[in-house]
Amino acid sequence: MPDLMLQVTPTQTIPGFLVGEVQSKLAYVDEAIASARVDPQGERIDLTLNQPASPEQRSEIIDKVQHVVASLVEGAIQPKIQVLEDHMERPVPYRSDPNPELLARGEIFQEAQGIIALGPLLSRLMEYFESRFLELADSFGASPYRFPTLIPARYLDRVNYFHSFPHSLTFATHLRSDLDVIDHFAEHAACGEHGLNIPSQSFSPIQTLLSPAVCYHLYFALADQPLPDGQVIVTAVGNCFRYESNNLSSLERLWNFTMREVIFVGSKDFVLDQRETARQRMQQVFEEVGLAYRVESATDPFFIGEFRKQSVFQSAFQLKFEIRARLPFKDATLAVGSYNYHQNFFGRHLNITLPDGSAAHTGCVAFGLERMAYAFVAQYGLDPEKWPSAVFEAMQ
Ligand code: AMP
Ligand code: ZN
Repeated sequence: MPDLMLQVTPTQTIPGFLVGEVQSKLAYVDEAIASARVDPQGERIDLTLNQPASPEQRSEIIDKVQHVVASLVEGAIQPKIQVLEDHMERPVPYRSDPNPELLARGEIFQEAQGIIALGPLLSRLMEYFESRFLELADSFGASPYRFPTLIPARYLDRVNYFHSFPHSLTFATHLRSDLDVIDHFAEHAACGEHGLNIPSQSFSPIQTLLSPAVCYHLYFALADQPLPDGQVIVTAVGNCFRYESNNLSSLERLWNFTMREVIFVGSKDFVLDQRETARQRMQQVFEEVGLAYRVESATDPFFIGEFRKQSVFQSAFQLKFEIRARLPFKDATLAVGSYNYHQNFFGRHLNITLPDGSAAHTGCVAFGLERMAYAFVAQYGLDPEKWPSAVFEAMQ
């Protein structure tokens, strides 16, 4: 049995509040790493490798791991978590892991890691939550928009996305418009264990990606002009893509997922007031749905070099609050949505102006539909008769 385990003792202890962050970033450190686990005390990292590695390769991996730990840990300040709502103790009847039953009933079908097809029960639940989010959008008089799944590379470049989240990008390409290339592809293309057997020169340079979020499309549609009437509220749903390496697991962490957003653009007070109103309205909805959750301050998953600076900034200015639903079977929580305020970041970078000539502020509330359905069945199980009446009746 080849030794696929590699244990690393971090040169500095990883503080508890960074254990999860370090663990998730280790997935991107080296292709040889199949999985990583940081012990809760932060004093030991256990890596499982894909294949046996030479002593040199092992020491290279260890160096990279130490580098990641040092970058994330050195000088890190524990963010003060602000809890805006706590309904974690709301009684929920189900305790088991819903995955085996979802699989057995054909409700989840994994096409590849992070790519999951959903059956009728989960689809109907997603539709139900979608209808509740649309009610929220209607309560603001939000205008409906449809945005493409593809997004131009120059858009993301213009808002520094490559710098902040390079690890999670998904690129879209096509064959070069060259008869020889296309003929060669048609004749020889086959998909093996390591993907398509086609040389990378056959593909066109990357101009386009799969969109990582919905609201960016709106900001680009509003770019380089004064904001009509000084404020807008929009809603849209879309397929979103975030490559999460070997962190991709079940419905909790998908490569391809669906997000419904309500998006606010206007003055600072306008955006902050709408974000707060949205939170209060959703509190009522989640009560009817019977969801056990809390809303707390959070930060986005910035890549290693950007993480410390950006996350301290986000938490200091309370830019992000997450709706974290309870997963009773693993005594953990899962973010099913977020309330975001971007200050005038997009207004400045994209030149969206208010009537007084200043840069517009933006914010959005974003709900992950697969996670919403998943968290609900983790709390209530798969038998609709045992669901809260608001959900059960709406599904009849
Ligand atoms: P964010 O913009 O990161 O706050 O994402 C908004 C919501 O999208 C999250 O609260 C999740 O519900 C959902 N989401 C984000 N990333 C993923 C993922 N990898 N898999 C499934 N849902 C996700
Ligand atoms: Zn958004």
